[in-house]
Amino acid sequence: MRLILLGPPGAGKGTQAQRLVHKHHIVQLSTGEMLRAAAAAGTPIGLQAKEIMASGALVPDEIVIKIISDRLDQPDMKNGFILDGFPRTVPQAAALDELLKKKHIKLDAVVELRVNESALLNRVEARVAEMRARGEEVRIDDTPEVLSKRLASYRTLTEPLIHYYSERRKLVTVDGMMTIEHVTREINRILAAIGAAEPKAATPKLAPGAARKTVGTAGKKAPKTPGRPAKVAAKAAKPASKGAKKAKMAAKRTGTKTSKKPVKKSARKAPKKVTKKRAKR
Ligand code: AMP
Repeated sequence: MRLILLGPPGAGKGTQAQRLVHKHHIVQLSTGEMLRAAAAAGTPIGLQAKEIMASGALVPDEIVIKIISDRLDQPDMKNGFILDGFPRTVPQAAALDELLKKKHIKLDAVVELRVNESALLNRVEARVAEMRARGEEVRIDDTPEVLSKRLASYRTLTEPLIHYYSERRKLVTVDGMMTIEHVTREINRILAAIGAAEPKAATPKLAPGAARKTVGTAGKKAPKTPGRPAKVAAKAAKPASKGAKKAKMAAKRTGTKTSKKPVKKSARKAPKKVTKKRAKR
């Protein structure tokens, strides 16, 4: 399973990524975490990134692209991964496309967590309070002032990725305003429906071809208004078996698969010709 989690700061990407890691035994690649670790370790990259991060601006593309490229070469990537916080700009997304192509890795889906901006400040404040209560060090960029800058950068630089991945039929949108549990369930249900995750024991596994079609439809139809995309994506992806059936029926109609229809037609025509000939004789 290879996924990208997309959403503004406070949307719940980190929380959902951890849950997906736990359930699907994949690796979470959070560029923010990696940069914070590099800053704490005092590496040249970390020191360069530290101040930029504290200001709420984005670290230069080439730095994060290099970090991700190196990380994708590690052996623990073979089960799959979930990118959290990367890509964050269209050039980063294009660079990722290139990287994945070179490394023969196929991306399954981009999960957008859509949330109301008004809720984000409260969420980040709650995160800070929880971290303090656990005695953890609080992120220096989790202040209302820096958050507003991070949000502005999300809007201008990262939000265009929604269109980018929607065009490539990779986007699925989930309503991130639901409870953590509900969001997780919704993501897992969609992933199972598109064939990116193992469906529940009793549900037959989707054929890869059929799965791709379902993702494409969900991504393409995702409307722009908040709230609706989750429903549409969820609807399009609903029960795995239904999706497979639909894809099969569509393939039958269009004859894209090794459809039996043309064979049947010629089979029907053949006896007619024979009959005509026989009639002439
Ligand atoms: P995050 O933990 O994802 O909220 O990221 C924290 C900070 O790390 C961001 O505000 C940026 O300064 C930096 N950062 C993380 N990921 C990226 C990225 N893909 N591109 C540029 N800067 C990043």
